[in-house]
Amino acid sequence: MANPVDPRVNLVGRTPGEIATLLEDVVDRSFRARQVAQWIVDRNATDFAEMTNLSVELRAELGRHFRIADPEILDRSASGDGSVKWLFGLSDGVTIEGVSMPENGKLTMCLSSQAGCAVGCTFCVTGALGAGRNLGPDEIVGQYRVMLRQLEEPVDRVNIVFMGMGEPLLNTGNLGPALETLYERVSPKRITVSTSGILPGIRWLAGLPRRPKLAVSLNAPDQERRQRLMPIAKRYPLAELMTELRAFPLERGRRITFEYVVIRDLNDRVADAGALARLIRGIPCKINVIPLNEDPEHFPDHRRPDDETINRFAVTLRDAGHTVTVRWSKGLDVDAACGQLKGRRQSRLPG
Ligand code: SAH
Ligand code: SF4
Repeated sequence: MANPVDPRVNLVGRTPGEIATLLEDVVDRSFRARQVAQWIVDRNATDFAEMTNLSVELRAELGRHFRIADPEILDRSASGDGSVKWLFGLSDGVTIEGVSMPENGKLTMCLSSQAGCAVGCTFCVTGALGAGRNLGPDEIVGQYRVMLRQLEEPVDRVNIVFMGMGEPLLNTGNLGPALETLYERVSPKRITVSTSGILPGIRWLAGLPRRPKLAVSLNAPDQERRQRLMPIAKRYPLAELMTELRAFPLERGRRITFEYVVIRDLNDRVADAGALARLIRGIPCKINVIPLNEDPEHFPDHRRPDDETINRFAVTLRDAGHTVTVRWSKGLDVDAACGQLKGRRQSRLPG
């Protein structure tokens, strides 16, 4: 793990352009900086020693000024279906989680954007942890780098979803640079940012020259229930959110994903599905119905509906003309855990 007082600048999470600027005073010719960027961004290098097309002297000089530091793997739990839940340690001892899910030659990575979440949704364990600090671009991109490095079999492509710990649109200052670096390897159309409906953040996304895909967690079809489940809805009311989303610029063929966590007797009735269908009518979208991942310790009153109720909910949406998927949890629930991560709070585990 990186030393918290290490004064050397971390090159992870920087775009090739940023690396060139940082290296200006250390390398004599600009193509050298491009070579360094290639090693770090394209080839996922972890040490200057790997950069065999640079002289030994230059590598040593780089190591005096810069470091290449990724989150440390503290723990890893695999489920039968190949999903892996990762526990990462950051340089100040903070822990975060991520999930990788392989499927048909492609790997979906669920990354964290913050170490906790201030939004405080009443069904989410990350929210129950309370606010956690923003992750830097190095810590965001570092999760991708570590997961990629640990792959046992090569994959055709990687999808990234920001559905791990935290609210990405409350960390746009770091998310923006991290996205720019990720775009070097992963197309914006393979990256999804999931938000609880932070309006200034959605406007920020709308203004980006290169946009990732947008997912919005609705979780209720009306303001009254939404603000009970998601207190942030008081600040950013549902009506304003929907107006903003109707104006959101969508690239050709793109759709907004609406996430809807179904909770027994709270938002799982056929009438709720009907209201949801009407609420989002006309928006190019798909709906991801997520059966609640129960956590009796934090939320003893919130239960997962039975399968029949979940199916009826999904079918009602489909009959209303919407594209719907249900995220059935499988294996050890690692998949379902994406979006419900805890980032164990105890101090460092043995590496
Ligand atoms: N803060 C962002 C992204 C992280 S949460 C957001 O809220 O969209 C990612 C997804 O996990 C959200 O759709 C959220 O509603 C869902 N989620 C949170 N807690 C859950 C739980 N206990 N069971 C199932 N899904 C949950
Ligand atoms: Fe934060 Fe998203 Fe969890 Fe709500 S659902 S508390 S916004 S991480």
